[in-house]
Amino acid sequence: MPRIYLSSPHIGSDERALVTDAFDTNWVAPLGPHVDAFERELASYVHVPHAAALSSGTAAIHLGLRLLGVKRDDEVWCSSMTFSASANPILYEGAIPVFVDAERSSWNMDPALLADALDDAARRGRLPRVVIVVDLYGQSADHDPIRAACAKYGVKILEDAAEALGATYKGEPCGGFGDVGIFSFNGNKIITTSGGGMLVAHDQAIVDGARFLATQARDPAPHYEHSVVGFNYRLSNICAAIGRGQLRVLDERVAARRRVFARYAEAFADLPAITMMPEAPWGHGTRWLSCLTVDGASDVGREDIRLALLAKEIEARPVWKPMHRQPVFAGCRAIGGAVSEDLFARGLCLPSGSNLKDADIDEVIDVVRATVLR
Ligand SMILES: *Cc1c(COP(=O)(O)O)cnc(C)c1O
Repeated sequence: MPRIYLSSPHIGSDERALVTDAFDTNWVAPLGPHVDAFERELASYVHVPHAAALSSGTAAIHLGLRLLGVKRDDEVWCSSMTFSASANPILYEGAIPVFVDAERSSWNMDPALLADALDDAARRGRLPRVVIVVDLYGQSADHDPIRAACAKYGVKILEDAAEALGATYKGEPCGGFGDVGIFSFNGNKIITTSGGGMLVAHDQAIVDGARFLATQARDPAPHYEHSVVGFNYRLSNICAAIGRGQLRVLDERVAARRRVFARYAEAFADLPAITMMPEAPWGHGTRWLSCLTVDGASDVGREDIRLALLAKEIEARPVWKPMHRQPVFAGCRAIGGAVSEDLFARGLCLPSGSNLKDADIDEVIDVVRATVLR
């Protein structure tokens, strides 16, 4: 067990009282006033009118795809550089994942590559139904050109902002740039409900549809009547109470993670072997995880640093292995792929939690510097 974690839950001062309120009012069952309030408060924070609180970010992606009309054998394109949960729901729906490579300035989906590939797909008469655009490690993708490329062919966008609650693109909050946006409140994210997610949309019908499907798809009738297959995907009132407290400290949490990143960046500035993940000029990221790449020509590799940290019980991990290289997606088409493969070969995530102590950060810095300078 590590002593210093990559990203651990960081509870604020209000969560306990909000959960106690849920107990005191006997709203421990699914749904309840904290769910409604959490949806309202999050929607208002991200400037999107409608939100549905769900049991996970993965559930939100699943329902999002379904509500955007994804059917069996449709193509759904997705950022290759991401966590598997971005893409797994494509397979839940029997659709076909196609993975789009990253660009170096943000590590997110390459808009030019996407635009060319959509032109090509239109010529072939095989456009994707949806493009899943990830805001990686809390940094916004370049949404304007991505939206323009998709709008040209009426292709819908699902913005996976699981890591980017609190980030902005051109001054606007991440999560609202697609037809559907999703967030995660998993224990390792910027804020947590101990586990949960949110689906947001500008179109109320989509969010109404998400609530319907997430509560077993009950038709309006006094008895239990069902015409479509439903899911049990709603968030509980207890978890929502935690989420409301967490939302109150979200801006502090983002600032704390950005401070962690800035400390690393300053400490490694004189090491030519190390480059911190760039911040693209169009946005203000959450720095959910502090990531770096190790120069390919350097004597030390990413694994040398990771193992040196592990020896001191410090958790560090390679950046996401691209989806087009994952066994579970073997045989799926990739559009490009060299950039995300290179980032995976050289990229490392360092402890990044908003609750890290200065002494923990100093220790990480010392181990990295000693390994690089050995
Ligand atoms: C965490 C994460 C998810 C999944 O969220 P859960 O709440 O854990 O289901 C999806 N996409 C990305 C990019 C994530 O980091």
